[in-house]
Amino acid sequence: MFDVVVIGGGVIGGAIIRELTKYNLNVCIVEKESDVAMGQSKANSGIVHAGYDAKVGTNKAKFNVLGNSMMASYAGDLGVKYRNNGSLVVAFSESELETLKELKSRGENNGVSDLYIIDREELNKLEPNIQSNAVGALYAKTGGIVCPYELTIASIGNAMDNGAKLYLNFEVDKVEKLGGGFKVYSKNGEVIETKIVINCAGLNSGKVSKLFGDDSFEVGGRKGEYILLDRESGDFVSHTIFKTPTEKGKGILVTQTVDGNILLGPTAELVDSGDTSTSENGLSFVQKTASEMCKNVPFYNTITSFSGVRAYSDKHDFIIEESKLVKNLINVAGIESPGLTSAPAIGKYVVEELVSKILTLNINKNFNGVRKPDYFFKNLTIEEKNEIISKDKRYGKIVCRCEEITEGEIVRAIHENPKATTVDGVKRRVRAGMGRCQGGFCQPHVAEIIARELNIPITEVTKSGNESKLLVGKTK
Ligand SMILES: Cc1cc2nc3c(=O)[nH]c(=O)nc-3n(C[C@H](O)[C@H](O)[C@H](O)COP(=O)(O)OP(=O)(O)OC[C@H]3O[C@@H](n4cnc5c(N)ncnc54)[C@H](O)[C@@H]3O)c2cc1C
Repeated sequence: MFDVVVIGGGVIGGAIIRELTKYNLNVCIVEKESDVAMGQSKANSGIVHAGYDAKVGTNKAKFNVLGNSMMASYAGDLGVKYRNNGSLVVAFSESELETLKELKSRGENNGVSDLYIIDREELNKLEPNIQSNAVGALYAKTGGIVCPYELTIASIGNAMDNGAKLYLNFEVDKVEKLGGGFKVYSKNGEVIETKIVINCAGLNSGKVSKLFGDDSFEVGGRKGEYILLDRESGDFVSHTIFKTPTEKGKGILVTQTVDGNILLGPTAELVDSGDTSTSENGLSFVQKTASEMCKNVPFYNTITSFSGVRAYSDKHDFIIEESKLVKNLINVAGIESPGLTSAPAIGKYVVEELVSKILTLNINKNFNGVRKPDYFFKNLTIEEKNEIISKDKRYGKIVCRCEEITEGEIVRAIHENPKATTVDGVKRRVRAGMGRCQGGFCQPHVAEIIARELNIPITEVTKSGNESKLLVGKTK
């Protein structure tokens, strides 16, 4: 029997399972998809928000500010790229300037440091491509950027290295009470017994809670569409730039990503399901709004578009508590933005304040929170590269030309926790296929490497699990 089962392999489940492995507990994480980081944690803005948006006194405000202060060391330990680039909320009218003052004071009440209102001249020095009708901005020096799926993969991988188990393709769809705990069933009929369940099922967190008998909240979806520009335009902006928010939310942003691309979006559209299609209307709106904020946006460098669905709760705040209706069920539900930023703080709180009230926590003296060093082969010096190639020739063979990713890095991603078994899984771990040609050149090579390393026929390699087969048979 497990001590704790975490449902949902997103950034929140990842932060919690890693935190759990700091103690002598028997723990696992279950995920319905064929890989982790397949929900909200795959497709979002990647912003480490400063913390001026959320209403004072809410869970969102508390965990945002705490998470922001923890992110540099959290990502650092996990070998994940993070940059403290600062964010700017730009006002285009005098009334918007008034809103910025309110945001500044809200931020200060939330405990955010280094918030400044700057004038147009200063703004232009920081970001020369802002439209000339901008009148000023709120400058939040603690704002940052991080790669959301890398952070999720690394936290779950680190938890696995420290003894946690991961069950993929495990969609929880039935639950039975069992003495002090639960029997948790997957759609495929597998069963796991556990003392505690932590529900981090994102968009499905309301449904999963109902399976246990707690129907005290609902979770809905709000889709956001994005446009991604090639790294060639990477210096178009260096800070994260927001419009002044309205009652509808933060609106469209223009930002650099940690990998040096430019990201524009997201829209906000209510949806019933996890539908992640993009639309002409949505992407046109992103283009129009980005152009209102910045001059000559280099749309000619667009390499892809995508969307993600935010999981918002009808409580209008993060739900992070032991269920009032079901003992030993901890709901960490409705974690929309700023959930990525808040993840390290939520992980710590859930284990230290909630799990500790149910189980005795004894420190795991063997816990090692440091994962692989933050390097991509291409960033090494020629001497370092030569040394690695002399030990493993596969690092001397470039597979993804756009991102300059070697066979050695791909093989590492296939064998390291949590193992990449699909083409998109490799892409999210080492960026093979993330560049200008979007996998046009390297996808077949990556598929061959996966087939060889996993010892499976190439016809069984999928793009992203389930029926997403790349090859179905021979034509000749
Ligand atoms: C468009 C968009 C932009 C955002 N921008 C930002 C930002 O810039 N900064 C920020 O801080 N936050 C941002 N967020 C919010 C952030 O992405 C989320 O708060 C965070 O990813 C939530 O993580 P999670 O683990 O709760 O959910 P998810 O990542 O959705 O993970 C839940 C997991 O549970 C799995 N699951 C569901 N049902 C079951 C089941 N029955 N059995 C097993 N597994 C199941 C899913 O497959 C999924 O992998 C944004 C979100 C979106 C969508």
